[in-house]
Amino acid sequence: MSVITRFAPSPTGYLHLGGARTALFAWLYARQQGGRFILRIEDTDQARSSEAAVQAILAGMDWLSLTPDAEPVYQTHRFARYDAVINQLLAAGLAYRCTCSPERLAALRAEQLAAKQKPRYDGLCRNRQVAAEQPHVVRFCQPATGDVGFVDQVRGAIQMQNQELDDLIIRRTDGTPTYNLTVVVDDHDMGITHVIRGDDHINNTPRQIHLYRALGWDSPTFAHIPMILGEDGSRLSKRHGAVSVLHYREAGFLPEAMLNYLARLGWSHGDQEIFSQDQLIQHFSLAAVNTAPASFNLKKLLWLNQHYLKTAETTRLAELLLPHLAALGIHTTADTKLHAVIAAQRERADTLAELARISAFYYQDVATFEPKAARKAFKGNPVPALQQVQERLAALDTWQQATIHQAVADTVAALEVGFGKVALPLRVAVTGGMPSPELDLTLVLVGRTATLRRIAHAIDYLLKSDA
Ligand code: GLU
Repeated sequence: MSVITRFAPSPTGYLHLGGARTALFAWLYARQQGGRFILRIEDTDQARSSEAAVQAILAGMDWLSLTPDAEPVYQTHRFARYDAVINQLLAAGLAYRCTCSPERLAALRAEQLAAKQKPRYDGLCRNRQVAAEQPHVVRFCQPATGDVGFVDQVRGAIQMQNQELDDLIIRRTDGTPTYNLTVVVDDHDMGITHVIRGDDHINNTPRQIHLYRALGWDSPTFAHIPMILGEDGSRLSKRHGAVSVLHYREAGFLPEAMLNYLARLGWSHGDQEIFSQDQLIQHFSLAAVNTAPASFNLKKLLWLNQHYLKTAETTRLAELLLPHLAALGIHTTADTKLHAVIAAQRERADTLAELARISAFYYQDVATFEPKAARKAFKGNPVPALQQVQERLAALDTWQQATIHQAVADTVAALEVGFGKVALPLRVAVTGGMPSPELDLTLVLVGRTATLRRIAHAIDYLLKSDA
């Protein structure tokens, strides 16, 4: 039987890290088994679902290349089918109409809690013949005794007493079906062989297994993935910073870094940290998913991102960097200058946004000097050194690394000072104190006109602050 997995988000918000990881594991498993991966939009809660959220989920999956193998299935398109299944259960006596009021249910609950019992519906309407015309919900008859079990691919054997379960509402008073019903009908109709989802659904699984049995269908295999915690050990939430996957795209993370990071969040393969997409597909296994919750660690994500920034194709980085430069007011193209800037700066940044920030000086005059760098470079009186090197640079026939290097060396010799006495103030004058590669290369990339203008500006600034 060929494997079919699915990702079944409720479109009530962006694609968060936990959802993206669930999607990744379902996608990886399908890819590895030569199977198919399907996206199902669980939009039955129409008050909380939105088209914008659907688009955000699609965009997040697209960014991470978690491409489904079919058009998304929308639950709101399938109400007739759910209704037919509910009616089938009613006709078979496996479900019943219930008219218990919210007041009665609340009173029952209070009574049970007072008697230190687990609150559950007492089945009052099971044997009452409620007419279809009366406002009602439909409940599924759970077996009252015995137990129900399954072998979770991550957690192992799980068993539950049937008396823990109560008669589940499968259709609300307004006629809409509930999650546990729709998920069973869809997973069956879509031929899902492996349900890989967050372990917040683990308590629903026994209920769903009873529905499969009542409908005469085989249950799929289940794998429940532990949740993601924040660094402080509590459930990951906005409090811990961004939880939307697309936020990380905006912040300048590479999708392969995010994918690698999410894969390692709760899954491991020996000590290996860096995985290409192909390696993930090759090595992924549900059995190797941790049973304990994983903690989100931004430092590790940054470390991975830096790794991928170092190794990505320069031409691709150039395209990806353009919006980050534009956000700083730098409108350029992915030309040879940008390629050279990336080659010079890429090892010094851990996000694209950071790479843009530390590369802005190649395009823009520096507005202010980074204080620490300026303190060091401008101590003593650097003005004569700057003036002389400015003159020599202005007189060069060609603007190349070798000629620039010679102009600096000649200044050092003429002034009889150490190399740093010229090179340091010159570097800070031109870069503002941003991290930069060797001086002659930096100046070549900044260009002669901008270099001379910035030296003049630094001299001006030093003379003024001296006065
Ligand atoms: N729609 C459910 C959710 O967003 C997932 C259901 C499932 O995977 O079975 O939590």
